[in-house]
Amino acid sequence: MIQLIRGCKDILPGETELWQKIEETAKEIFEDFGFREIRIPIMEKTELFARSIGEHTDIVEKEMYTFPDRGGEMLTLRPEATASIVRSYIQHKMYAQDPVRKFYTIGPMFRRERPQKGRYRQFYQINAEILGVAAPFADAQLIYMLTLLFSRLSVTDVTAHINSLGCPECRPDFREALLNYLSEREEELCADCRRRSRINPLRTLDCKVPKCREQMKDAPAITDRLCGECRTHFEKVQKFLHAMQVSFEIDKRMVRGLDYYTRTTFEILTGSLGAQSAVAGGGRYDGLIKILGGPDMPAIGFAIGLDRLTEICGINAESLQRKPALYIAALGENCQDKAFEWICALGQKGICAESDMEGKSLKSQMKRADRLGSPYVLILGEDELSSGQALLRNMKTKEQTAVPIENLPEKIKEIIK
Ligand code: AMP
Repeated sequence: MIQLIRGCKDILPGETELWQKIEETAKEIFEDFGFREIRIPIMEKTELFARSIGEHTDIVEKEMYTFPDRGGEMLTLRPEATASIVRSYIQHKMYAQDPVRKFYTIGPMFRRERPQKGRYRQFYQINAEILGVAAPFADAQLIYMLTLLFSRLSVTDVTAHINSLGCPECRPDFREALLNYLSEREEELCADCRRRSRINPLRTLDCKVPKCREQMKDAPAITDRLCGECRTHFEKVQKFLHAMQVSFEIDKRMVRGLDYYTRTTFEILTGSLGAQSAVAGGGRYDGLIKILGGPDMPAIGFAIGLDRLTEICGINAESLQRKPALYIAALGENCQDKAFEWICALGQKGICAESDMEGKSLKSQMKRADRLGSPYVLILGEDELSSGQALLRNMKTKEQTAVPIENLPEKIKEIIK
C-alpha cells in the first residue's frame, strides 16, 4: 500500500470543520480591517526565495524543495508566502495606483525539516501583510489583529513577544558588538553557532542549545543599540499596543529565521505545544521590496501556523460537524426514486437530507440514520406511498407523525426549521 510522504498529513472530515472555522474567522477579521485576499502560486523561481529569505538561512540552505523544471529552470515549492506577495506587488506595479496594500492569503508551505509533533514538511499558514506603510500603526494593527483572532478562537495561554532588529543604520554597530562578544566565546558554542557566528551572527541569539543559551545570556541586546528613529518606532509600537490593551513581552533574543526583517519582529508563543511553541511570527521587512527590484517601500507582515493553531484552538471540533437534518428511510424501488427526488429538492433549499442508495433493510437504514446523528427519519414504504402519508420519526423523542407526501420538501422545511 502506498503511504503518504513523511512530514505530510491528511486533514480528514472531523478535523476539516475546525480548519474551515479558523479560516473563516481569520478572513472575517482581516476583511473587517480592510485586508483583501491575494492568491499566489505554490511554486516560484528558486532565486526569489534565495534572494529574499537569505542564502545563509536554514530554510534556503537545507529546507527548500527545489528541483529543475523539465526545461532546466530551478523551481522551489514555496517555504513561505511573503516573497511571492512582494513579487506580485512589484510585478503588477500595485505600488503605482495605491502604494498602501493590505493582503491576506491562506495555504500550504513546504520545508524539508525533521518531522516531529507540530512540525511538518507540508504545513499551512495564514498570512497578512501591509505594504507601503512605514508608520508603527501598521505594526500595532497586525499584532492587535493576531490577538483578536486568538481570542475569537478561544485560544488561551498565548503571549505576544516583540523585539526590534534595528535597521541598516544601527544594525552594523550591533553586529560588530555581537561579533566581538562571540569571538571571546566561540569555543563554548555549538557547531551550528560557530558556523552562524561567521555568516549570520544574529541567529546565535536564539539558539535553543542550553550551553549556547548560557553563553549568550549577557550578549549585547539590539534594543540597547537602536538608532533614534528605530527607538522611537519601537516605543510607538509599544504605546499603541498598550492603548489597545494588548499585553506583550519584550524579547531581546528573538531574531527570527529570515534575513529580510528590520525593526519590529514579533512572535505569538504558547505554553500548550511543548517545544514547538511559536504559533505565529512576523515582522517588518522595509528593505525587501527594493531588494526584489521594486521601489523603496516599507512593509510588514505575519504568518500563523495553521496546523499548530488547530491544536490549541478552544473550539470543540465536534460541535462544528454538520449532521443531516433528515434521513429518508425508503423501502423498495418506487420509494427510493421518490427519496432521491426529495433529497435533491431539500438540498436545493439548503437542507441536508441523506438516504440509503443501495436498497438496504429498514433496520440497517435506521442504524445508519442514528450513526449520522440525524434528528429526524422519514419512513417511506409502498403502503405509505399509496396512502399519500409518510411517517416522520423524531429520533430523540421517538414520536412518529404522519406527513402528507404532496409537496413534501416544503412541509419538511416547515417542520424542521
Ligand atoms: P515562519 O515562517 O518560520 O516565521 O513561521 C511562522 C509560523 O509557521 C510558526 O510560528 C509556526 O507556527 C508555523 N510553522 C513554521 N514551520 C512549520 C512547520 N515545519 N510545521 C508546522 N508549522 C510550522
